[in-house]
Amino acid sequence: GHRVVEPRPALVPFTCELLATCELMAHYSRHGERILAPRRVSSGSMVHKRSTIHREPLGLVGVISPWNYPFALTMTPVLSALYAGNTVVLKPSEVTPHVGLAIGRLFAEAGAHADIVQVVTGGGGTGEALVRSGVQKIAFTGSVRTGKRVMAAAADSLTPVLLELGGKDPMVVCADADLDRAAAGAVWGAFQNSGQTCMSVERVYVAEDVYDVFVDKVVARTAAIRQGSGPGHDIGSMTFPPQVEVVERHLADAVAKGARIVQGGHRRPEPGLWFEPTVVLDVDHGMDLMRDETFGPVLPIMKVADDNEAVRLANDSPYGLNSSVWTTDLDRGRRLAERIEAGNVCVNDCIVSYAVPALPFGGVKESGIGRVHGAEGLLEFTQTKSVLEDRGWLRHEAWWFPLPRPLAGMATAVLRLRYRSGAGNKLRALVSRPGRARG
Ligand code: NAD
Repeated sequence: GHRVVEPRPALVPFTCELLATCELMAHYSRHGERILAPRRVSSGSMVHKRSTIHREPLGLVGVISPWNYPFALTMTPVLSALYAGNTVVLKPSEVTPHVGLAIGRLFAEAGAHADIVQVVTGGGGTGEALVRSGVQKIAFTGSVRTGKRVMAAAADSLTPVLLELGGKDPMVVCADADLDRAAAGAVWGAFQNSGQTCMSVERVYVAEDVYDVFVDKVVARTAAIRQGSGPGHDIGSMTFPPQVEVVERHLADAVAKGARIVQGGHRRPEPGLWFEPTVVLDVDHGMDLMRDETFGPVLPIMKVADDNEAVRLANDSPYGLNSSVWTTDLDRGRRLAERIEAGNVCVNDCIVSYAVPALPFGGVKESGIGRVHGAEGLLEFTQTKSVLEDRGWLRHEAWWFPLPRPLAGMATAVLRLRYRSGAGNKLRALVSRPGRARG
């Protein structure tokens, strides 16, 4: 007897934000104590010592967040910092200040002392002031360009930074992929939230054998997207006027260099930030559309000869946030996943790795420094204190003054005892380790 309510597209991203935030809270409630607990480690040859690693809060953490998922991308660093024992000053995006203020009220209503989460609204100047304010860490989520400025400002006081920056996430479609699933995944991954997602699919590399079939499926699915603000629609409008201009600039540059728009490509005439879901072919890496983050509803597709060319092109980018590989052969998928330079890889899916709170999330290359989520995401907001305790077995250490005559002999004996197989073998094993990063 329940009434079925069709979701409004504008609410779908927000429900996802709530869900991702709740999942993270549940994860840290269950595992946080263990992640932060002091950990005993071996004291090596000093058997008469006890060694323990402690994780301490940093103190006050500054959180600077973007507008595209203004709730989840703010709550994630705020909750992680608080869980690790810190207090927070939050500066939300000037595009979505009310979400930041609502987060402040949420903590007040939950009984937090006013100093535990403070919210300051403002633009870039306020953000920079927060970076320079003497906080113990800055957790920044936003564009690469601003991230570099944050890091430069933080360098003055050696304030550590966690940087969650942009992406140009590649999708690799192998010849043996399930093309219906891959096409549906590409269309969802490129157009949900009108492409304003740091992990959205921003470029696709498809094996030439299946290129035509894949493109037909993508175009048909894109044409069927219901864009609007009422119930029964799939995606809403864009959020931020300058972002629509970036989309138009990237498309104009691509078309001027020989690309073909086969679906969409225009701003819709009615008021609002409506840009049609757009599919672009005949693209190459000389185009801004394939190099810079577009952050809008645009899906460029490029034909490749084989897996090697796909990996080479996927890695030909200053970014390395998320990525995806589509194949029915899971071994092939894992091998390709290993070769892609990115902080996150999905096999036969895209974007959703962010919604698994146990998986650390973050970028390599210019997509960022550090991780949120998982154990790493909590440890980001701590500092390590190593504690060594003497067990009290000896009144006097052998190496204290006055140095005993036989000390050198004793040290040699310890070396012989512990490294009989030869330290040289250990060194050789170390330098020939398989899987070493290739420079
Ligand atoms: P932005 O870089 O323009 O702004 C982000 C925040 O930085 C805002 O709060 C802004 O006021 C503040 N800011 C601006 N100048 C500053 C300065 N000099 N010093 C300190 N703070 C300053 O980014 P945006 O347009 O709000 O967000 C979109 C970008 O964020 C995209 O590039 C997207 O990919 C990226 N993003 C990354 C992730 C991630 O987790 N990796 C998530 C979402 C968005």
